Amino acid sequence: MNIQSGTYYWPTTLTNAPTYSKLNDDIACDVLIIGGGSSGAQCAYYLAETDLNVVLIEKNTIGSGSTSANTALIQYAGEKMFINLQNTFGESYISKHLALCRQAIDDIESAAVQIDRDCSFTRRDSLYFASYHEDVEKLKKEYQLLKNAKFPVEFLTREDIESLYPFSKEAAIYFKDDAEINPFIFTHGLIEFATKHNVHVYEQTKMTGHVYHEDGVTIYTDTKHKIQAKKVIYCAGYENVELKNEKQASFVSTYTVTTEPINDFSTWPNRTLIWETARPYLYIRTTADNRVIIGGLDDNTIYPEDRDSKLIHKKDKLIQGFNKLFPSIPVKPAYYLTAHYGGMRDGLPIIGQYGEAPHSYFLYGYGDNGTVYSQLLARIIVEDIISGQSPVLPYYLQNRPKKNEA
Ligand SMILES: Cc1cc2nc3c(=O)[nH]c(=O)nc-3n(C[C@H](O)[C@H](O)[C@H](O)COP(=O)(O)OP(=O)(O)OC[C@H]3O[C@@H](n4cnc5c(N)ncnc54)[C@H](O)[C@@H]3O)c2cc1C
Repeated sequence: MNIQSGTYYWPTTLTNAPTYSKLNDDIACDVLIIGGGSSGAQCAYYLAETDLNVVLIEKNTIGSGSTSANTALIQYAGEKMFINLQNTFGESYISKHLALCRQAIDDIESAAVQIDRDCSFTRRDSLYFASYHEDVEKLKKEYQLLKNAKFPVEFLTREDIESLYPFSKEAAIYFKDDAEINPFIFTHGLIEFATKHNVHVYEQTKMTGHVYHEDGVTIYTDTKHKIQAKKVIYCAGYENVELKNEKQASFVSTYTVTTEPINDFSTWPNRTLIWETARPYLYIRTTADNRVIIGGLDDNTIYPEDRDSKLIHKKDKLIQGFNKLFPSIPVKPAYYLTAHYGGMRDGLPIIGQYGEAPHSYFLYGYGDNGTVYSQLLARIIVEDIISGQSPVLPYYLQNRPKKNEA
């Protein structure tokens, strides 16, 4: 699958990234993770703390998939408002989901502290503004829901926004305590942590086939070896749908620009993460070395040639969008890319468990908050493997009940 193209910023922040050998033997393990992106690394991190024999295989190099394109805003609010999710799933379901997502941000922070690399995890507040007058009522309801559930949010009026930012919007929700991270270094740090705790990692080793048995799975690789695993976690990112086509998954193309470093952020209060209610939206963040990342302008095409042909135009549009918000911050594009981008139709990420694929978990952390979802799902999967049952797994299975089906 051709998932992305363009120029990548994050890999330039870790030029001597660790490398791992190919699989050159037939082996057996308790748990096999397929895919060495952030999701696979997050699973490896939690499994490293167990006494299970764990193996991870990656067909290219660690972090070279969508992890290297990830703009890595670490938030719990996503593409679907919680008021909409509540209509689909019910109030207590969504309150639980919200709490689990916030916990996942804390868990990412703990992991970032535990690994031996500085992955620039930084707590940031988020500004989510109404792009249009029609969105203001929805924002008010969303704010009320979050406030009632005791989340640290504030509602900002036009006057509030104008007093803080160089732009004017009718209303916004201000989320306290979101975060940003360098996803490439985070992923490498997690993998290094895991390898120090007996997880075996192989790069340039692609799964090419599988056979399911009563007591496990045999995985075949392009290095002409096989792995006998008791459990398999499929963490192939957007390529998971090539291994098991989950019908809730839907795809678009997205675009990002990373600028040259900026000297002065004084007009950008707290370097907040900023995004908006418009669809397609624009979102922005800053980096540890004072760049701006601008992303969004999603396009419905899923064809790589079509997606790629729009890159230059979208890059210019992203820069224009930023200039409208911060006219006094001059930005010059340094890296820009376009990527396949997945979400779930009902708005929640999925752990796929299918009768035809026993002993297996398919981690689909799809959605705007992929990194948060993957942390959450990785934890649930590992809990399920270790204890034989995770009480929250049913919330994320592909056949979770909707409100009117429960
Ligand atoms: C442009 C963009 C912006 C984003 N912005 C955000 C954001 O701001 N915040 C956020 O939380 N999330 C964001 N996301 C989502 C986030 O990037 C993903 O959730 C995350 O990177 C997914 O990691 P992953 O490990 O599941 O997938 P990947 O990083 O794609 O890793 C999957 C790995 O599996 C390997 N693989 C595939 N098939 C096989 C096989 N057969 N055998 C062995 N290995 C295999 C691949 O080579 C790849 O390395 C963004 C995504 C994109 C594309």
